Amino acid sequence: MNQPKVTEQLRGLEAAPAESVPTPPGTPVRPRVKLVDRSQLTWQMLDVERLIDPDHAARAIWDLVGRLKLDGFYARIEAVEGGVGRTPWDPRLLISLWLYAYSRGISSAREIARRCTYEPAFQWLCGLGEINHHTLSDFRVEHDASLRELFVQVLGVLSTEGLVSLQRVMHDGTRIKACAGADSFRREERLKEHLEAARQRVAAMGDPRQEEPKRKRAAQERAVRERQQRLEQALEEVQKARQAKRHDKEQARASQSDPQARIMKQSDGGYAPSYNVQLSTEASHRIIVGAQVSQSPNDFIHLIGAVAQVEANLGRKPAQVVVDAGFTSRENILSMAEQGVDLVGPLAEANLSWAGQQRQRGVSEKFDLDKFSYDAKKNVYRCPAGKILRHKGREFGPGVVIHKYTAKIETCAVCQFRSQCCPGNHYHGRSVTRAERSPTLTQFAQKMQTDAAKAIYRQRGGVAEFPNAWLKDKLGLRQFRLRGLVKVGLEVLWAALTYNIQQWIRLSWRAKLTLANNN
Ligand code: SF4
Repeated sequence: MNQPKVTEQLRGLEAAPAESVPTPPGTPVRPRVKLVDRSQLTWQMLDVERLIDPDHAARAIWDLVGRLKLDGFYARIEAVEGGVGRTPWDPRLLISLWLYAYSRGISSAREIARRCTYEPAFQWLCGLGEINHHTLSDFRVEHDASLRELFVQVLGVLSTEGLVSLQRVMHDGTRIKACAGADSFRREERLKEHLEAARQRVAAMGDPRQEEPKRKRAAQERAVRERQQRLEQALEEVQKARQAKRHDKEQARASQSDPQARIMKQSDGGYAPSYNVQLSTEASHRIIVGAQVSQSPNDFIHLIGAVAQVEANLGRKPAQVVVDAGFTSRENILSMAEQGVDLVGPLAEANLSWAGQQRQRGVSEKFDLDKFSYDAKKNVYRCPAGKILRHKGREFGPGVVIHKYTAKIETCAVCQFRSQCCPGNHYHGRSVTRAERSPTLTQFAQKMQTDAAKAIYRQRGGVAEFPNAWLKDKLGLRQFRLRGLVKVGLEVLWAALTYNIQQWIRLSWRAKLTLANNN
């Protein structure tokens, strides 16, 4: 017996008007509802232009990118008008897609490709076209120089619109986790074992030029080859660390996931494979005017390069740079003074006097530093017993050079004052230190005691840490997706570019649009 289709049954239920079916007395009344019919095929009119509002951020990004010179991006395109071959997507579109995606905290090429099929802003940007995620991921890392040029061009637009003032720049560093786990670090021996196994797997796959593997197999083989490359790079990094004598053979390790990542201390006190991201932010409108990535966790070595980068990006140096105590090294203070850049930042506590330590060691006040006389001509000290303490070496502290002077152990060992002067010294004689500040360093220290400098410094946290927090919280850059110093640098550049464009949309584009609509 032929059963009526379910949809026909449902249609029947829906179509039956309540008044046409007399309800016998006492029968419970059934509610009447519209039922869903998913068996139908429909056509819909879709106005792509009206998918998003006139003031949508995607339109602002599209407009801005359209105003920029993208010659570097177009130069790599081989397809020409009238020629054969597949027509690639317009770089203006791919740039806009990546910028809009980053602004939404999306950094996955697959996710962008997926959203292009259903999310209105992505659909509007690509005109309902479908974009392969390989195209997107390749584009993100293929245009290093052009992307840097784009960053500079956007700074030019912001500067023209009065949003960039270099009167005061706040500089700060932040650690961002690498695409590697802490347990991916291996010593040289283990790396060699893994590399040998990877080489054998690659050799077993045969020559990729001789075969046409299927897509899935090709992806698997590419992953094996990339693993071999990473292991080779990790081995190189371990050997470089040993040659540079940073670590001995036992200590030297590198990540087999991202060989260029380094273990760094995090803000929560823990340690993780990371990169050190340095950002220079101008104070008036919080625009990022310089962005760098480094493998070194030390902040102070990056300040001179950061100022040079700001000058390269905008054609002039910042008038004033505000930093935290991690940047106020002697070299930085002197270099900024030499370049005419007003540096503002607290001096870290310098080890200017060892008197407290000496007292702990049982040294009598009669043998404190001020009881030793300094002979500047000979650069020696003379102790209360009249013996010579010679210059032994020097250490550089923040804004100060500490010179060390030591007496011979043979002299102190037989001295009648030894129990009061250097009671704990068994292998070397008494030592004293002399702190030396250059006029520049002295002036810097005096300036940082003034209320004006302290007031400026108090503004630092609000400005310098704003883009750091924005990149991590709004753009989702808490961990890199890409591996290696170059690609990680590109990821930071995309994020910094997105951040600047978001500032431009907020401060300029939306304001102009509102004004135009009101007129
Ligand atoms: S212990 Fe050495 S430094 Fe101290 S007073 Fe004697 S000789 Fe001089």
